[in-house]
Amino acid sequence: MVINDIKNIFEKIGSYKLRVLKTEDILKWKDNNSSRDHIRSIDFSELLGTMGVVVAAFEYNINSPELPEGCMSISPYYYFSNMYYMKLKEELRDYIYGDEIKILNHTPLKILANISGIGYFGKNSIIHNDEFGSTMFLYALGINEECTWDTISREESDCGDCNLCIEACPMGALDKGYVLNREKCIRYYMLEGREVPEWIGSKMGKRLLGCDICQNACPKNIRTIKMEKMPEYDREIFLIDNYIKNKDKGLKQYINPLSKLIGRNYARTKRVLYQCEIISKNE
Ligand code: SF4
Ligand code: SF4
Repeated sequence: MVINDIKNIFEKIGSYKLRVLKTEDILKWKDNNSSRDHIRSIDFSELLGTMGVVVAAFEYNINSPELPEGCMSISPYYYFSNMYYMKLKEELRDYIYGDEIKILNHTPLKILANISGIGYFGKNSIIHNDEFGSTMFLYALGINEECTWDTISREESDCGDCNLCIEACPMGALDKGYVLNREKCIRYYMLEGREVPEWIGSKMGKRLLGCDICQNACPKNIRTIKMEKMPEYDREIFLIDNYIKNKDKGLKQYINPLSKLIGRNYARTKRVLYQCEIISKNE
C-alpha cells in the first residue's frame, strides 16, 4: 500500500502530522461552501485524476542562530522547508515516476491543512495546532488507491479573543484578522522580483527572506522544541557586503551555496543583490 510507504518515508524526515482526505469529499466541501468568495475561487484542478490527498505537516524549529555582524538573516522556515522538500522529492522519486503519487504544488495547502484537521487558521493567516504551533512545513500528495479516509473538519480557527499577532505586526498587515494584506507585508516583497517601496524596505531590517514577527508573538509557539535549530550562519554566504562589493565580478561563489540553503527559486542573483542593496541601508 503506497500510504504505508509514504508514512515510512515521512518518519525519516522528522516529526509530522498526517491526514488522508478523499478527493470527492474535498470537492463536495468546496461545492457546499461556494457561497463564500474565497472558497469559490479555490483551484483544485490539480486533484483531477486523484482518488485522495495525503496532507502532512512537518515540524521545524523557529529559533534562529545568532546573526553575525554585517550579515543578513533568513527565517528558519525557508531553510527547513527547502531541506524537507528536497529530501521528500528524493525519497518519493520512484513513486512519482511510477505515477503512483503526485506532488501537489499548486493546490492551496493551508486550506487542505485546515479542512483535514491538521490545524486551525490563525489571525496571522498561518495554520497552527497544539503540537507544532505554527512552525510547520505543509506538504500534500495526490494518491490513487483506496484508504481509510479522514473526515472534513468544520473548525476554522481557535484564536478566540487573542489579537497578539495583529498587534505585533509592524506594518498593520493583519488588521482585518485572518486575512493578510499582502501589499503591507514585508515578506511579500522579499526575493519575489517586486519593486520594494521605500516604506517597506526601511522596515526590513537585515532580513533577506522571511519575517517571523507575527509568529513569534503567537502563544501557540511557546513550547519546548526538541529538534535542532537551523545551522549557524556561514559568514561568507550571508555577509551583505560580499554581494555589494562583488556585484560586477559574478556572485556565483555566494549564490550557489545560498541556493542550497533556501532553494534556487529564491536565490536568484539579481533579486538577492537588489535586496542586499536595500537592507544594507538599514540599521
Ligand atoms: S510576516 Fe511580518 S509584515 Fe507580514 S504579517 Fe507577519 S509580522 Fe506583519
Ligand atoms: S497570536 Fe493569537 S490571534 Fe494570532 S494566530 Fe496566535 S493565537 Fe491566533
